[in-house]
Amino acid sequence: MGKYEAVIGLEIHAQLSTESKLFCGDATRFGAAPNAHVSPITLGHPGTLPKTNTKAIEYAIKMGLACGCNIAQENYFARKNYFYPDLPKGYQISQHTTPICVGGNIVINTANGEKSIQLNRIHLEEDAGKSIHDISPINTLIDLNRAGTPLIELVTEPCIHSAEDAFLFVTEVRKLVRWLAVCDGNMEEGSLRCDANISIRLKGDPVLGTRVEVKNLNSIRNIKKAIEFEIERLIQLIETGGTIIQQTRSFDASNDTTFSIRDKEDANDYRYFPDPDLAPFHLTDEYIASIKAALPSLPNELKAAWKVAFGLSAYDTEQLCEHKGEADFFIKLTQQTKHYKAAANWMLGPIRAYLNEKALGYSDIEGSLPYLVELFNLVEAGQLNFSVASNKVFKAVMEQPQSPSEYAKANNLIQTQSSESIANWIDEVLSANPEKVAEYKKGKRGLIGLFVGEVKKKSKGTADPQKTTQLLEQKLSS
Ligand code: ADP
Ligand code: MG
Repeated sequence: MGKYEAVIGLEIHAQLSTESKLFCGDATRFGAAPNAHVSPITLGHPGTLPKTNTKAIEYAIKMGLACGCNIAQENYFARKNYFYPDLPKGYQISQHTTPICVGGNIVINTANGEKSIQLNRIHLEEDAGKSIHDISPINTLIDLNRAGTPLIELVTEPCIHSAEDAFLFVTEVRKLVRWLAVCDGNMEEGSLRCDANISIRLKGDPVLGTRVEVKNLNSIRNIKKAIEFEIERLIQLIETGGTIIQQTRSFDASNDTTFSIRDKEDANDYRYFPDPDLAPFHLTDEYIASIKAALPSLPNELKAAWKVAFGLSAYDTEQLCEHKGEADFFIKLTQQTKHYKAAANWMLGPIRAYLNEKALGYSDIEGSLPYLVELFNLVEAGQLNFSVASNKVFKAVMEQPQSPSEYAKANNLIQTQSSESIANWIDEVLSANPEKVAEYKKGKRGLIGLFVGEVKKKSKGTADPQKTTQLLEQKLSS
């Protein structure tokens, strides 16, 4: 690897979460019986007229604005002509050459700090149907449910230099489309698909090498594996005197290798021309501004703000911004308590664990939110110790929204600050352990932990550990 540099450009197709297709009212829902959502428009029958789904345009603009792209105000759809069995019209309607979003970038957090990945464009197009080769031994079956589903295709500049960075980039794209609710990001259902273009060159060489393209990678791990394999393979090829030819390849997940599907001729002849059935469309400044105004705060904005305003670590903010639902819940908590760090710890600890265990989402625990705030405040005020709070009171509050202080009082869980009761427990513990006391007095100071633990047990967790330690030290030194 030493003298070579890998160059990677990604093309990511994201299925937009609209109810209906890009140019007709057919449903886009995943998992329907084959060919259930196929009107004459999807089938490309003569005499039918497509009509553009404005929601899809809005979603594409949303994604473009979130990535800092320029939004093109004059737009049209073109026909990209080619024959494919699952493309019934004989052309795909696309904006490939005149994208709605131009430029922009997405920031990834790598082990070596932040990197900005430049985008070339994001354009709208319709998906093709699906050819199924593995059901019948002799026939290819065609399911056209997916034909006409709206896609955005996001294309990066050739500016990624490792499989790891490509992995982080796709992870970030998936997070962003989910955050904006423009695509569900489910790679296993094909809602997000990636083609990786890979070349190598000598370090410092300004010219790009010949690329290979690995098509239709359907998991983020496979994207990484395919790129790792390709970089190795291309270097081997050059080192053993071979030449790289421009190729389209596919990934074999059974052994983490890639194989050639076809040698790619350079100039494709798709004979693009504006679709005469679809009027060009103009996006007004007001329309674009209204979408911008409705955009939610983005993960990177929240992370930066929370570091400053709440003093949270990079790790905490990163974790809290994994999903929008989680970030929104945290925002609601911070509107009700000033114990920001405690709220973050509770979210990333007990709350996450509870939701995972019960397979629930944040919307399911909205009702417990004010009681959670009360719970954090009790712990921060020293009235409940954390382990009692997280093991007992928390569960009660989650299972049935109720006041944690009332629950704790009713179950004798309130931590006692009373020196008197703590002193009594201490006396009991010390008189039950005379040898340990002698050892402590000879210098085995670590035994203090044992005594604190015993007092804690006697008090059923209600003795404030700090206070206990303090009183114990006094007692033992007298
Ligand atoms: P096409 O549409 O024919 O696949 P594009 O020029 O639109 O080609 O490029 C597609 C992707 O390939 C882009 O992400 C681009 O950055 C990337 N790419 C282009 N040339 C190279 C190269 N030599 N090495 C790596 N990636 C490349
Ligand atoms: Mg391509």
